[in-house]
Amino acid sequence: MRIVLLGPPGAGKGTQATILAQKLGVPHVSTGDLFRANIGEGTKLGQEAKSYLDAGDLVPSDVTNRMVEERLGEPDARGGFMLDGFPRTIDQAEALTGILERLDSKLDAVLEFVIDEDVVVDRMLERGRDDDTEDVIRNRLRVYHEETAPLLDHYRAIEVKVDAQGSVDEINARAMAALGK
Ligand code: ADP
Repeated sequence: MRIVLLGPPGAGKGTQATILAQKLGVPHVSTGDLFRANIGEGTKLGQEAKSYLDAGDLVPSDVTNRMVEERLGEPDARGGFMLDGFPRTIDQAEALTGILERLDSKLDAVLEFVIDEDVVVDRMLERGRDDDTEDVIRNRLRVYHEETAPLLDHYRAIEVKVDAQGSVDEINARAMAALGK
């Protein structure tokens, strides 16, 4: 299955994506993880991306789209994927349509993680990643509302909502049910 996970930062997409990917036998493709791996390895892409991650801003789409196209072209992703953190803008959604057309495929579903904003801020402050300081979190939420939330309407036709409050197991069961599994 080719699935996109949508929802605010801190909604638990990464945790669920890992479990869902394993259950469905597809790779978990997280743009945040790909950027952090590149930053850790000191690649050129990592150097380009670092200041954006530190500020909670979006990495420019040309860099991001190219990275996603390469990743989705790899053999393990040809049969399906769990895409987490991409697309984050309407432009990226259009780029994804193009990428999938070139791979002769299309999305099966978009899972929307629905959660209270107070809960996500608490979760991120507990997580304590480098970009989980209060100012940067606030900026990531602002970017989410301005740039990413419009995707909910864009993907209406293939979108399924998942209540993202509760235990990891409960949310996973809801996500599997939403996918008809
Ligand atoms: P979260 O969902 O908690 O915000 P992510 O790991 O998904 O965390 O993203 C962390 C950061 O990586 C973002 O704040 C942004 O700087 C960068 N990033 C991730 N995905 C994208 C994307 N699709 N486009 C641009 N920047 C991205």
